[in-house]
Amino acid sequence: MRAIRLHGPGDLRLDEVPAPDQSSGSVIVDVEACGVCGSDLHFVNGTARTDHMPMTLGHEIVGTVAAAPAGTVEPGTEVVAAVGEFCDECSRCVEGKPNLCERASALGIDVDGGWADQVEVPVRSLRERPSSVSPADAATAADAGTTAYHAITRRAAVQPGETVLIVGVGGLGTYGLQLARLAGAGGILAADTDAVALERAVALGADETVLIEPGESLGRRIKLLSEGGVDVAIEFVGAAAAVDGAIKSIRPGGRAVVVGVGIEPVTTLPAVLWSNHEYTLTGAYGGLPGDLEAVLGLLADGSINAPPTRPVDINEAVPAITSLAARGLGGAERLVVTPR
Ligand SMILES: [Zn+2]
Ligand SMILES: [Zn+2]
Repeated sequence: MRAIRLHGPGDLRLDEVPAPDQSSGSVIVDVEACGVCGSDLHFVNGTARTDHMPMTLGHEIVGTVAAAPAGTVEPGTEVVAAVGEFCDECSRCVEGKPNLCERASALGIDVDGGWADQVEVPVRSLRERPSSVSPADAATAADAGTTAYHAITRRAAVQPGETVLIVGVGGLGTYGLQLARLAGAGGILAADTDAVALERAVALGADETVLIEPGESLGRRIKLLSEGGVDVAIEFVGAAAAVDGAIKSIRPGGRAVVVGVGIEPVTTLPAVLWSNHEYTLTGAYGGLPGDLEAVLGLLADGSINAPPTRPVDINEAVPAITSLAARGLGGAERLVVTPR
């Protein structure tokens, strides 16, 4: 079968590999759509590492069950795969935070993923895809939607009436903005370097937008717009400037949440302002069991919209992904690899 594999930083290839067998008791899924996420691009451009190479990337997996152990799931079932498999036994799992599992195994990161004709998925990672949610939309739910759901509902814990700043309105931020609106946010500000992303943010419920210009202080702009700072700022980019901007946008007693994945160290406010203003800074990673179903349900009943996607045939995907990795995810559509 065909598989897009990472052989090293900058070395992504369309390979012919043996199809997975069911030796491990997993389910074999015929891939219909598999999203291209920001963290994939970090692997491709070398700013993130995996020990397992060559590795088939792709962790936003949607497809049809081709083969499954008896008594689990019927062949032909339309499915979405949750990204992470966890151990149930480590300290983090026991305290109910399997997203932080010490022995976590993620599809397309620790084991072969979905940029391929077929992928092997643990039975309990599978969720049924609602028929009204397209494969491409469901793909974005698997990671971007789930991660945003956990970030907004638990880590940011957005309360009715609170003012919220969303920094970065790509795939994650598009979900984050709409989930903040559903949580009853009293005013939503959206900031991005991409004007197209901000137009979409307005259409999805942002009350104000800020186009971030190079070298400009996001915090100063937001404090003017929000009369002294927002209650909560959530950053979905992972760049040091975006994290710094989110922190400098919150009011005294406010909180900032880092969701983006980046490797630049962050320099921000002096200690005296943290103590005097009792700021809170926290992170958010992945999602918990049930989150993917929740996001699929919201997509199915029309409560939220998936970010726009652009299908790319698996045969043409390597140059498309490589060029995206070189210039970074823009605000436009999210690429979805489609093997069939
Ligand atoms: Zn991802
Ligand atoms: Zn665990």
